[in-house]
Amino acid sequence: MKKTIVITGAGGVLCSTMAEALAKEGHNIALLDLNKEAAIAVADKINENGGSAIGVKANVLEKDSLVQAKEEVNNAFGKCDILVNGAGGNHPLGTTSNPFLQLEDLVRKEEGFKTFFDLDPQGIQFVFNLNFIGTLLPTQIFAQDMVGREGCSILNVSSMNAFTPLTKIPAYSGAKAAVSNFTQWLAVHFSKVNIRVNALAPGFFLTEQNRTLLTNSDGSLTPRGNQIIDQTPMGKFGEPEDLIGTTLWLCGEGSSFVTGVVVPIDGGFSAYSGV
Ligand code: NAD
Repeated sequence: MKKTIVITGAGGVLCSTMAEALAKEGHNIALLDLNKEAAIAVADKINENGGSAIGVKANVLEKDSLVQAKEEVNNAFGKCDILVNGAGGNHPLGTTSNPFLQLEDLVRKEEGFKTFFDLDPQGIQFVFNLNFIGTLLPTQIFAQDMVGREGCSILNVSSMNAFTPLTKIPAYSGAKAAVSNFTQWLAVHFSKVNIRVNALAPGFFLTEQNRTLLTNSDGSLTPRGNQIIDQTPMGKFGEPEDLIGTTLWLCGEGSSFVTGVVVPIDGGFSAYSGV
């Protein structure tokens, strides 16, 4: 059955790939992004390939912006059946320079060097808002279309670091743990009104956001990149296309009795103790 699927962060690397895959299934796709040009570019590509999509500017942190986006979606395609909460990310102000605090760090004076004690609450707040409030608010707006109808569901985007926090990024790890927790809470809360709620927990995907963290300019791996590959039993980073199968499953009828799950897509990273 043709559905209307709203995807936030849809101008980005992972969600644009998910959007194109969902479009190929014959659904109407509304691509929401703060970056309208990016959303429209993905919509154009989908339409050129025979799909049906619109690009819509929306800020997942502003209710008014989401209400307006919903109006655009409803006018173009009718009620929203599926919401993919993809907008998210980290911020340097919520990140420590080193994985472990060492005594000598306390007297280091280089500009930009950050210990836990230097973390900026505003940076932490930015990351919590973008990932958690940025999942909650679009759900408040778009799930109103879904209540009591058939075949409606929500797919959140959590992360590996929600299971076990990654070093250096306490804000992003905590915020994604909140997204996983909220996925379970919402699955229970919406269980009587026919809305399933699940999440993807992608492992490590080489994207523009983390390319310089994981690879050097010649394409070789940084020490952190190497550490990740060593900790990933399958020995590689994920490709955005690796998310497609689970996305189609969780957004489709094949998962009609599945709600409240967070599925790792991580080459075994979260299963591996390192020994
Ligand atoms: P990306 O940076 O390529 O895409 C994120 C998109 O969100 C961008 O197009 C950006 O414009 C948009 N956005 C940012 N703030 C917004 C706001 N306030 N309102 C609306 N849109 C906004 O990131 P990505 O790597 O494709 O990540 C997509 C999702 O996957 C994120 O939730 C991210 O945290 C998660 N994730 C990524 C990885 C990875 O390895 N890349 C791993 C695990 C989880």
